[in-house]
This record gives sequence, C-alpha cells and structure tokens, in this order.
Amino acid sequence: MSFRNTLMLLGAMVLLGGAPTGCGSERKPVPSAASALPAPAPAAPAPAPADPAKIGANEVGMIPVVMYHSVGDPPARRGGPRYDRRGLNISPETFRRHLQMMHEAGWYPVNMRDALTVRMQVPAGKTPVVLTFDDGRGSQFRYLPDGSIDPDCVVGILEEFNRRHPDWPLRGTFYLNSNRSNPVPFWQRGKEAQKIQYMLAKGFEIGNHSSTHSSMANMSAARLQWEVADCIRYIRRLAPNATMDTFCLPYGAWPRNRALLGVLMEGSEGGTSYRNLAVLNAWGGPAYPPAHRRFDPRAVSRIGVEPGYLEMWIKNLKAGKPMRPYVSDGDPNTVSAPRSLEKWVAANRLEGARLVLYADNAPQPETGKPEKTPKAPRKPRSLSVR
Ligand SMILES: [Zn+2]
Repeated sequence: MSFRNTLMLLGAMVLLGGAPTGCGSERKPVPSAASALPAPAPAAPAPAPADPAKIGANEVGMIPVVMYHSVGDPPARRGGPRYDRRGLNISPETFRRHLQMMHEAGWYPVNMRDALTVRMQVPAGKTPVVLTFDDGRGSQFRYLPDGSIDPDCVVGILEEFNRRHPDWPLRGTFYLNSNRSNPVPFWQRGKEAQKIQYMLAKGFEIGNHSSTHSSMANMSAARLQWEVADCIRYIRRLAPNATMDTFCLPYGAWPRNRALLGVLMEGSEGGTSYRNLAVLNAWGGPAYPPAHRRFDPRAVSRIGVEPGYLEMWIKNLKAGKPMRPYVSDGDPNTVSAPRSLEKWVAANRLEGARLVLYADNAPQPETGKPEKTPKAPRKPRSLSVR
C-alpha cells in the first residue's frame, strides 16, 4: 500500500469513527458509541487460513537473497570471456532459467525491505526470495532506440516472466550508486530518473550501494556517513519517493572496525538523516529471517549466481540442508513454526504477531549455524569489476 493510500485509509477510518490499532494489515475500525454514521459494510470473508502443520509453515526458516550483477553485458575486459565463472555477468537465457527454477521451487519474490519484517506478505506455502541487482549496470534496465524496454535486460525479462506467471509479482531490489565516480544508474545518460521512477511504480525497490562504490574497509565514520547520505541525496533528486533504506556493501567489504557498522545503520550527514533496515553482505548462503534469534540486520547473507550455485541452494533448502527454508503460513499476523524449532524464535521481535507452534514428528537437530558451503567465500575485492 502506498503512503498516499495509507493516508486515505486512515482518513476513512477517522470518518467512520474508527482508529488505527496497529500497523500493517491488522488495522480494525474500533466501534465508537458517539459515531452517528452507519456501520461500514462487513468486508468479504477472508479465505480460511491455511493449516500451518499441513503446509509445513516455518517462519524461522532461511530466506534466499540472490545476488545478481550483469545479465548479458559485454565482457568485463576486451577479449575476456563474455560470461564469467563468478556469476558477475550471466546470459539472459541463464537468468530466465533461474526464474523458472525458483518459480518451480515454490519461491515467491519480495523486496529486501519487505523481507525484514515478520509481517512480510507471502502466500501460504511459499518461500520468499529476494532478487538483488548491484551497481545499476546497463544490462539491468535498457531502453532500445525505439523507446521500448530491451526484452533481454533484467527489467524486460522480469516483466515478460510476470506476464506469463502472474503469481510471480514484479519485485526485486536494485542497489545503486551516485554518478560521482560511476556511470549514471543503468548507463543511459538522461534516462536514469525515468527508469528509477518507472521501477518504483512497478513495485521494485531502489536500495543504497554507497555514493562512490569504494571499499569501506578503512573509511572513517564521517566518510561512511557521507557515502550513505550522498547516495540518498542523489537518488532522491531523481526519484523523491525512493525508500533507500536498505544498504549493500560495495565489494561486500565491511568496515574493519566493526563498531562502524552502526554508522551504516543509522546516521546523519549534510542535513540527510538515514536509518537503514539492513546491511547486505556479498556472500554467506541463505539469510536468517527476522523471527530467528540469529537474525542480524547488520549482516544479511546473499547467494551468488556462479554456475551451479543457485541450483545447489534450491536443492539444499528443499532437503533442509543445512536448515529448512522459510515457508509462509500466509498470515502476516502470525509467526508459524514447528515446535522443534521453538528455541530459535526471537520472541522479542514478533512485532505483535502471534506465535503459532505446531507439533512436528521429526525434530531435526538444527544448530542455527550454516555448514560450510562447498565453495569458499569469494574475496571481497573480486566481487565487482569496478
Ligand atoms: Zn557493487
């Protein structure tokens, strides 16, 4: 729901003598004796809630956050291979195949900021997946000379997939930099504002990838704050309603002084205040969900797309290795999990949602610690070509 729609809804509730009682979808008009207006017509009955046990709901399960860079860009260096083995540039055909695989696996796309609340809206039985796209590369959103969207760029491919599969909504988070030391977002000068506004209107999220895309390993607190705030200022000039409240580390490089992660989460510079909901890594496998005790918004893990890697994680999660995936109960007002996983529930982060535990016959020893992934984590510096 847009901010404007929220305002309209709140306004309507005040008119009807009601008052909002919370956030999200839980608002219920409160009857008021003083109200002379007739009671609002009852809403259509909601569909019967799914039985969490029957669908294996597990809202302390892992969430895949998939990391993309280029899809069909020219080789990173002249004469170099077109598609690299680190997954930094994959073919449009590979990306289409990924979408098909994720769809068939019962995954359902949500934006990054929406995967950070226990009240995320995901249909019953589905596993949320966040598709992230770094650096605002040209192949992520390209207009052809006739003004149409290139069917082989990321946005074109996602729109085509959504047309064929309306149950796969247009969601995805694009982490952009300013144009200070990089090309304009998506590389077509003069089109960047139009593109970003178009994406927001379609349901995509624009996130913060720092102003200059420099490694943050040795930056001062002041420089870190400038990097976050300057990117926000740049993007907001192009699209004032961009949320810009999830942050993705350039090269996945953390500040060496871990205490400075707090500065990335919250700060103020040059009159721009910010509060990030999360900081994203560039590796680490599936991410902990917000209702899990190990969830740490300062270090959200992602899955890269080097050949075979996404396939491996689809298979592993399905098999519950090293942990079972998040499976939605379909109700944002409840957090459902098998009783055997109760110890991993972060009771202090339920945001007012009701905890629903159900008996499961085969409790598995889940340590909450992902096993080593078959491939060694990549070195931060090699993660991006620029
Ligand atoms: Zn990057």
